[in-house]
Amino acid sequence: MKILVVDDSPFICHFIKDTLAKAGHKDVIFADSAFEAFEYLGLDNPSKGEKISLVLMDFIMEGLDGIDACTRIKSKEHLKDIPLIMITGKTEDKYLKAAFNAGAMDFITKPLSQVVLVARVNSALMLKQEMDRCKTREEELLGVTRLLEEANTKLQELSSIDGLTGIANRRLFDQFIEKEWKRALRYSRPLSLVMIDIDVFKAFNDSYGHLAGDDCLRQVAQALQDGTKRPGDLVARYGGEEFAVILPEIETDSALIFAETLRLIVESLNINHAYSTVCNIVTASLGVATMVPHRLTSPKILIDHADKALYFAKQNGRNQVQAYSPAFSGQ
Ligand code: GH3
Ligand code: MG
Ligand code: MG
Repeated sequence: MKILVVDDSPFICHFIKDTLAKAGHKDVIFADSAFEAFEYLGLDNPSKGEKISLVLMDFIMEGLDGIDACTRIKSKEHLKDIPLIMITGKTEDKYLKAAFNAGAMDFITKPLSQVVLVARVNSALMLKQEMDRCKTREEELLGVTRLLEEANTKLQELSSIDGLTGIANRRLFDQFIEKEWKRALRYSRPLSLVMIDIDVFKAFNDSYGHLAGDDCLRQVAQALQDGTKRPGDLVARYGGEEFAVILPEIETDSALIFAETLRLIVESLNINHAYSTVCNIVTASLGVATMVPHRLTSPKILIDHADKALYFAKQNGRNQVQAYSPAFSGQ
């Protein structure tokens, strides 16, 4: 551990060097003014400073005295934890108080005693060592905490994102619709849901292979996501080749218009599907339902209505949008 001695008396420097060397402290450097000490410490240029573990500073020096020098050193973030011991011939309380106020951790009085000098230096170095150890541990802990936070965020993302398509998964869909349902209930606002199912997709898989099927699902998911621009909406993979879009605050008419846009978006991907019974590209059928929730209902009813509308779109020839009608439920 390197010790910096700041004293303009060659005699004192010599005495300290000898005493510390006998006590096993060989790494000692000397400055004969506060300004030279600032250079060693890298006061204004941390990258140029040496790694110093203890400063012994004369109280009275030419130029800048020990108190002012100590104040300037302690004002720097990168130096404030280096223990500083003041060497002083002045032992009146007011001088010692000034030294402590300036940030000195201890003082040694002149004439210097070898025993006192070594004992004070040893305990200051032990303290510094302990402080360094604590700091390292603190930094390690901070690093681990940061890693844990990152892993948590990643886990959170993984558990709400569909692995194949990268859009929201069923879990997030369930949470989202529950939350929006409650909000719509509270303010008596409409909530719309669009269910989207790719047409004749089994034949697509059977003919082009499962990997091509996966790729098709990814393209459709991305296109639906890109086409849904309102920040409050959610596009999710509901399951298999079925997607869902939750549209808070949207009435039936607007939801129908938007669903038609989504249908056209799927069509415009222009993915070949020579085995479709609808046409020669990939298409989708869409069911739309809107509700203003009331206390005795649940999001399950909205999902059921959208499903029934989707079923009707399939029955009616596919590649189309249908809105839910109570007739579908036999009401
Ligand atoms: P319909 O027009 O009535 O919807 O007919 P369909 O063939 O699309 O419907 P069906 O429910 O009979 O088939 C759905 C197919 O979707 C079957 C399954 O192989 C495929 N599928 C579901 N999930 C995935 C997936 O993750 N990857 C791939 N490649 N295919 C999937
Ligand atoms: Mg299908
Ligand atoms: Mg399906």
